[in-house]
Amino acid sequence: MKILISNDDGYLAPGINALAEQLASFADIVVVAPDSNRSGSSNSLTLDKPLRVVRAQNGFYSINGTPSDCVHIALTGILTERPDLVVSGINQGQNMGDDTLYSGTVAAATEGYLFGIPSIAFSQVDHRWAHLDAAARVAKDIVLRRLDNLHKPFLLNVNIPNLPYENLQRIVATRLGKRHESEPVIRSVDPHGNEIFWIGPVGKAKEASEGTDFHATANGCVSITPLQVDLTHVAQLDRLRQTLA
Ligand code: MN
Repeated sequence: MKILISNDDGYLAPGINALAEQLASFADIVVVAPDSNRSGSSNSLTLDKPLRVVRAQNGFYSINGTPSDCVHIALTGILTERPDLVVSGINQGQNMGDDTLYSGTVAAATEGYLFGIPSIAFSQVDHRWAHLDAAARVAKDIVLRRLDNLHKPFLLNVNIPNLPYENLQRIVATRLGKRHESEPVIRSVDPHGNEIFWIGPVGKAKEASEGTDFHATANGCVSITPLQVDLTHVAQLDRLRQTLA
């Protein structure tokens, strides 16, 4: 099995190292990841500057680009063979509900999916890497699960509570929940007296009922949400056609 691994926290992040170590125990892995933290970069591609690929001593490739750049360049410029799977993460922090749209972790997996390759994004629910070893074991478990039954290619978004492996409950299939709108931007002043802004924290969960990713992880379960890329609002399409008729 050949697996391409990327992330959005950068190639030095503990999460991608733990993931690579687990997957290397049974697969041929190649790691291609951003040279710095590009969290929140969504699906952006870098079109306004050249991108450089550097091979680190441990064999990981780093690129001065986004997660999508990394998977794009790996698939079209680095790898000599098409991987069987693209895996992203393990991210520091959850990618659930509406936040998945901003996620660079999910974006790296989405880029693989857009190239027709089954892809999985892994995130830990809380920051600071508690029980990262357990999350990496869960990632290995999921990659080794027989997912042949799914439509190909698939795109899976996995969120793992920060718990010891023995304390994790079931792995459950979920839908994305929804959040309230984000908290307001945070105003401050730089050392030169100019006003500056920091993007504020995400909103609280609004739709976190049973069956959602929020509900599953709050109950100690590993959440897997199958994603798709088609954003078309089908019901609205009919109304729009009627409006324009
Ligand atoms: Mn991140």
